Amino acid sequence: MRSLVLIGHGSHLNPQSASSVYAYADLLRSKGLFDEVVEGYWKEEPSLRQVLRTAHYTDVTVIPMFISEGYFTETVIPREMGLGHQGPVPPQGVARSIGGRTVRYTLPYGVHPRMAEVILERAREAYPDLNPADTALIVLGHGTTRNENSNKIVYQNAERMREGGHFAEVHALFLDEVPKVTGWQEHVGAPNVVLVPFFASEGWHTLETIPEDIGLTGEVTVFEGGANGTQTVYYSKPVGTHSAVTEVILQLAEDARGAAAQGGDIDRSHQDAWDAFVRLAEQTVRIGEVIVRPTEGMFEIRHALDEGRANESLVTLVTPEGLRDQVRLDEAGEFRPVHTLRNLPRGWRAVLSTAELRRAVHLLYPAVIEESYAHHHHALRCTPWNATARRQTGIYAKVQKATPQQVEHVAKDVCGGCMKTRLWADEPLHQTFFGGVPGAIPCAEACTLLVAEVREEVSGKRGAAASPSHD
Ligand code: SF4
Repeated sequence: MRSLVLIGHGSHLNPQSASSVYAYADLLRSKGLFDEVVEGYWKEEPSLRQVLRTAHYTDVTVIPMFISEGYFTETVIPREMGLGHQGPVPPQGVARSIGGRTVRYTLPYGVHPRMAEVILERAREAYPDLNPADTALIVLGHGTTRNENSNKIVYQNAERMREGGHFAEVHALFLDEVPKVTGWQEHVGAPNVVLVPFFASEGWHTLETIPEDIGLTGEVTVFEGGANGTQTVYYSKPVGTHSAVTEVILQLAEDARGAAAQGGDIDRSHQDAWDAFVRLAEQTVRIGEVIVRPTEGMFEIRHALDEGRANESLVTLVTPEGLRDQVRLDEAGEFRPVHTLRNLPRGWRAVLSTAELRRAVHLLYPAVIEESYAHHHHALRCTPWNATARRQTGIYAKVQKATPQQVEHVAKDVCGGCMKTRLWADEPLHQTFFGGVPGAIPCAEACTLLVAEVREEVSGKRGAAASPSHD
C-alpha cells in the first residue's frame, strides 16, 4: 500500500499554476497504480508542511514536479517536509523514516533521461515534416543565477539530442541568461527551427514572455531578412505538459521503491481521524463554512448558507475534482490560495459516495481533518513564528527582520479573513468541530501566504501590485 505525493510550486496569485500537477495526479489516479495520489505545494494547500499528514499509507513516495534540480528540489522541499536532507539528491533518491512513515524522495521528473524523448515528441508535434537535414532544434530553458544545476539539464538534453542526430543543429538557449534566446538568429543557421520550451507548465513565460521576447506571432512564425535568410520558427508546447511525463513519474516512483518492495500499511492516526469524521458526517456535521450530511446512501456537502435552498437551484457536483474546481475561486472570481479563508462561494452541492468523501473534504479543506483531530487529542505540534521565520531562506530570509508588531499587523489583515485560530501565536482554541464548534480549526504554523505578506511588509512594498516574480 503506497501513497504517491506529487509536489508542485503552486501560486498565491494564479489559479492555473497548479493545473499541470492536478492533471498528472488525476491521470495517475485513473491508472490505479497507486493506492493513493495526493498533491502538495509550496504556495498552496496542502502545504509542504502539511502534506505528509494527509497521506493515508505509511509508504510514501514524494516526487517533485519540477523541470530541473535546483533551489526548490534541493533546499526548499526537503527542508519544509522535514526530510533531514539538503543538497543534490542521489539518482536512487533519499529514504527517511518520519513519524512512522517511510518517505522516499526522488529526483524531479525533468532530469529523467526519458525527457529527451519528450523533447523529440514535442518537436515532431510542432513540425510534423521535420527533416533532420534542414532543421535546427532550440531547447529553451529558463536560466537562473541562483543554482547552476537548473541549467545543467538543458545542456544535457541538448547534448542527447545532438547525439541522436535528429537535427542539423541543436542549441541550448535561455530566457534569463546567456546564451539568450533573444539572440537565436546569431546561433542558428538552418532555415527551419523548432523551439521547445523546457518548462514545466503552460503559463506566463510560455504564453507571453517567450513569444514577446523573440517576436513569435503564433505556432509558426516566418522571419525574413536575417543574416541567414528566411527562417521559419515552429513553437512547441512545453515539455512538462506532455502526457508521456506520467510514464517518467511512474519510472521514478518505481526506482525509488528500492529494497522495500512490500509497501506499507494504513497509517493509523490518519485512519482514526477520518473514521471519526465520517461518524460525525453520518449524523450531519458543520465544518468551516459547509455542512456535510448523509443522503440516500451518499453524502452531500453544501455551503451552510445554502441550507434550505432547493436542490434544483444549486449546481450539483458529482466528483471530488468537480468540487475542487468549483471552490478554487471566490464569488468575485478571485483565487483562493488558502482554503479556510471565509470566502467559499455558494450555489453548489456535492453528492459523493463514502469512498469519495475523504478526497472531497481533503480538496475543500486540506489537512483540516487530520490537524483538527490531532488538536482534539492534544497531539498537534505548533511552530511559533520565530521558528518559521528562522527556517526561511532565499528571498524570504528577510522575514527574520520583522518585528512582532509587523507580524501582528500583517496577521490581522491576512488571518482576519481566515477561519483558523493561530495556535502559533498563542491564540486559545479549546474545541474544534470534533468537539461541536463548526468554525474552530487550528492553525499550527504560519502559512506561506502570511510569510509572503510579512516579507512585503518588511520590504515596504505591502499593498503594491503583486508581480509574478513575487509569487
Ligand atoms: S497563517 Fe493565518 S491565513 Fe494562514 S492559515 Fe493560519 S490563520 Fe489562516
